[in-house]
Amino acid sequence: MLADYAEYEQAIGLDWYSLDPNLSFLLDRYLPDDEDRKFAEEHVAEYGELAGRILGARAEITDAHGPVLNRYDRWGYDVGEVQHHPTWTANKADLVRTGFVGLEAHAGRSVPAVVTAARSYLLSQCETAAYCALGMTGGAADIVERHAPSEIRDLYLDRLQSLDPETAWEGGMFLTERQGGSDVGANTTRAVPDGNEWLLFGDKHFCSNVDADVFIVLARPEGAPEGTRGLATFIVPSRQEDGAPNGFRIKRLKPKLGTVGVPTGEVTLDGARAWLAGGRSQTSDQSAARDGRGINRMMEMVNSSRFGVALMGLGIHRRSFLEAAIYAAQRTQWGQRIDRYPLVRETLVDLLVDLEAGMAITFECAGAMRGAADQDEARLVRRILIPLAKMRTTRVALWAASNALEIFGGNGYMHDWPIARQLRDAQCHTIWEGTENILAIDVRRSIRGERAHLALGNRIDRALEAASPHAVLAGALDVVARTRREAWKAIDVLAAAPEDEALLKSRRLAELLADTAEAALLLEEAAWSLERDTDARKAAVATRFVRRKLADELLRGLLVEDRTVLDHFEPLVRYGVIDPDTLVA
Ligand SMILES: Cc1cc2nc3c(=O)[nH]c(=O)nc-3n(C[C@H](O)[C@H](O)[C@H](O)COP(=O)(O)OP(=O)(O)OC[C@H]3O[C@@H](n4cnc5c(N)ncnc54)[C@H](O)[C@@H]3O)c2cc1C
Repeated sequence: MLADYAEYEQAIGLDWYSLDPNLSFLLDRYLPDDEDRKFAEEHVAEYGELAGRILGARAEITDAHGPVLNRYDRWGYDVGEVQHHPTWTANKADLVRTGFVGLEAHAGRSVPAVVTAARSYLLSQCETAAYCALGMTGGAADIVERHAPSEIRDLYLDRLQSLDPETAWEGGMFLTERQGGSDVGANTTRAVPDGNEWLLFGDKHFCSNVDADVFIVLARPEGAPEGTRGLATFIVPSRQEDGAPNGFRIKRLKPKLGTVGVPTGEVTLDGARAWLAGGRSQTSDQSAARDGRGINRMMEMVNSSRFGVALMGLGIHRRSFLEAAIYAAQRTQWGQRIDRYPLVRETLVDLLVDLEAGMAITFECAGAMRGAADQDEARLVRRILIPLAKMRTTRVALWAASNALEIFGGNGYMHDWPIARQLRDAQCHTIWEGTENILAIDVRRSIRGERAHLALGNRIDRALEAASPHAVLAGALDVVARTRREAWKAIDVLAAAPEDEALLKSRRLAELLADTAEAALLLEEAAWSLERDTDARKAAVATRFVRRKLADELLRGLLVEDRTVLDHFEPLVRYGVIDPDTLVA
């Protein structure tokens, strides 16, 4: 069991990996191979120290000293340079040195996706803004590696994956224009062919990491049709090789509510030289620009970013819990620590229960191969689970930050305490990379177009099967199995409903699928923990989750005798072992 939280003053300065046994549990579970697990231990533990002891303190300073745009130099030339506080630059430099981008290239071995996810989750506990900047750098590197023409591919990839902060490049992505973010098909930025290259003209309205070096940009090649099918994806450096601006001008930085460190700007592209992300080695074949698949290349980056944003939600949630657990152990009212009061205990336990539920589906996206029948099923599980995870964890992070803030009482509302920033930052994540509505519609698309719900249903059945031998899970298992049957029936009913009604219900359906997947995977984790460690802590977590989210209990469960929060508070929040015989099924 972890030490009493009263031993700590605040989360900053602590090792966030060793304080999070659920993260090690997931690494054990998703990495059965000893070599992979050893590799994970080395590279994930490093981030527990880095984020908790070094980056976190700097991130607080960056938040109070956001970037500014220096329009002109002292000679009056329009330079449009973004000036950062040194804490922002120092954080990114440390991340670059540890190979946050391109770990695979540096480690000389394949890197399991759960390792990258675990590092990103730890980073998100202190600065989702820095993760935004370097996450998009990783996304840009992927696009360059897969789709850049040979003349720039190796050069750009080396720069984007460099371990030297002095020379490393960063990336960004420009989709959104003034007239629409959800409806990118309304994009008007033009691409004009120029030999093997292209020139881009237009305005982009939300450009995060705007002072990065290379951007993945959506634009419409001249002569291409309207709508999303007419869009193509381009690779655009902000400067030419000689350092001169590449037809690229930052108009202004946006005044944001949160994620202050990463500059988000409005940009004019005026003849910016670009390469087509064409999936071919040469750009001279311009038909590739109009093949209708340009949007798919951008969506590759958007999908990996959506997964990253799900991790941002988890990071904020975890930090909120940790800060609240420490504060509640320190703070006394009426002569008693407030974490002795049943209502505070319930808040802390539910913060953890929902966090572990979110981690269950998000890490499953990264490690889908482990529980899937084959590669195709894993792909489809990821296809539907990524939008569900992004939708779920970012929404719940807002709830978590808000509840954690209230544990701090009036102090929580103040900037001298750490939660107000988490709450501001959390509000960004439900919006960027697709709002909740757009994700619900995407889930529906994955069901209608790819039948991805069948793969998820199979995966859920397997999880429930794993839980079935355990009497202590029986009650929760019944509820989840029934929901699984009925929810998948509802999918069929809604498929035949009028379009407006089906759309109206798509968000509620997505919520139900997320709840069901979370519950099933928690039950599977609980079974594993019972079998491996004879520990029913995870069973308590899973059962509590099912009670709150899926069990339709009379009078909201008020009359059910359930003392889990009261009797098992310490092992739940301090990750101790719970004897299965002491848990009521
Ligand atoms: C801090 C920040 C940084 C950002 N950085 C970037 C960036 O780097 N690059 C980039 O390209 N973009 C970026 N964005 C833009 C972001 O992706 C968009 O804001 C987002 O996709 C929503 O688009 P919108 O703002 O145009 O809202 P709209 O599309 O106008 O949506 C407004 C509301 O209408 C709803 N809505 C729209 N269509 C439908 C529908 N069919 N059914 C139901 N509801 C619907 C939405 O859910 C939303 O609630 C950033 C945004 C923020 C806040």
